[in-house]
Amino acid sequence: MEPMKLIAGNWKMNGLKASVAELETLVAASVPAGVELLLCPPATLVAGFAAKATGSAVRIGAQDCHRLPSGAHTGDISAEMLADAGATHIIVGHSERRADHGETDEIVRHKAEAARRAGCVAILCVGETLAEREAGRTLAVIAAQLEGSVPPGAKAETLIIAYEPVWAIGTGLTPTAAQVAEVHAAIAGQIGKGIRILYGGSVKPGNAAELMAIPHVDGALVGGASLKAADFLAIAEAAAGAGAGA
Ligand code: PEP
Repeated sequence: MEPMKLIAGNWKMNGLKASVAELETLVAASVPAGVELLLCPPATLVAGFAAKATGSAVRIGAQDCHRLPSGAHTGDISAEMLADAGATHIIVGHSERRADHGETDEIVRHKAEAARRAGCVAILCVGETLAEREAGRTLAVIAAQLEGSVPPGAKAETLIIAYEPVWAIGTGLTPTAAQVAEVHAAIAGQIGKGIRILYGGSVKPGNAAELMAIPHVDGALVGGASLKAADFLAIAEAAAGAGAGA
């Protein structure tokens, strides 16, 4: 039996208290069978959204965490704080954080370990740049990122991988189905243990069915198209139609 498809939304630095209207639409909707919905709003909204989503099929996650549980780190937020606010998942190693904040594989590994320590599932992002793909280095780059950032002893209950080609994020470009299949098969071969692998990068209602039907694609990490509940739900419907839980 295939695992449930996870459709996870990453709102990035978007969303104010008024954006709860989108969450309310998600909470009121019926989530298609075989699909799990997760929304990762900015940290300011995690507690409020988690309270609003209580008892529904929508879970709330966060976009980043500090590696330590507490301490003198002004402006940072720990995994324990996010769990306390109601987060069940924490994205770590997103390419925007690797680029904007110089996060290395080692830092990302510490963050994934912090998420596990706090009782959250880490969604660990890997992906190649366009230059790396054009140089034929995609599989080597991703293998090295996994080698350096996946915590020892990681299990399906505590870790999800998101393959996000950097050149596909927010650009409207997507890899071919064959390119996605090649990378997901390589990731599954390297980490195994039933750890789910999401695809991320310009997933939209119009391309989700094709992407979600690719072998070893266990769901999607969705940026722009997660900001509107209608689009996010359409992606979840497409994932269900693509054989979720079959
Ligand atoms: C992302 O940043 O995780 C992402 C997949 O963004 P988008 O869907 O907008 O390409």
